[in-house]
Amino acid sequence: MSKIAVFPGSFDPITVGHVDLVERALPLFDKIVVAVGINSQKKYLFDLEKRMDWLEAVFSNEEKVEVGSFEGLTADYAKKIGAQYLLRGLRNASDFDYEKTISQLNNIIGDGLETIFLIAQPGYSHISSTIVREIIKGGGDASPFLPTEVSL
Ligand code: ADP
Repeated sequence: MSKIAVFPGSFDPITVGHVDLVERALPLFDKIVVAVGINSQKKYLFDLEKRMDWLEAVFSNEEKVEVGSFEGLTADYAKKIGAQYLLRGLRNASDFDYEKTISQLNNIIGDGLETIFLIAQPGYSHISSTIVREIIKGGGDASPFLPTEVSL
């Protein structure tokens, strides 16, 4: 059975930290679906189409990467597309505290769905979409944190 992972997130916008995580995870899986989770309660800086276009552009040369989007529970989406794993990154202790509970819940509601965590590389652990959005809103240059395919 092929190993399929979903890498869920907002990707508002995708950063070099996300790209690094996917590239490091590629040898572990047959396919990684980078999926934008849509939360109707949440306000995004960039619309869904733009975020997905950037994902498509960034991973256009990676045969094992697909791009998708979903509403509702990540575990349901994983089941729908036949993924047995979720991929998440851990940058610090707050990521761990948050992710631990979500991963335990997903394991139960996802019928054994396992979350595979990769620790952020030291050079990327300070990068988050939140910080990047703040830089953009403040009129700063966010390009050091963005893949070249993301043109603002
Ligand atoms: P959220 O799901 O909170 O909207 P993001 O879309 O920013 O988060 O991120 C999705 C996933 O990517 C999370 O697991 C997060 O830990 C991981 N991630 C984000 N930035 C980095 C980074 N710089 N290094 C490693 N993992 C990261």
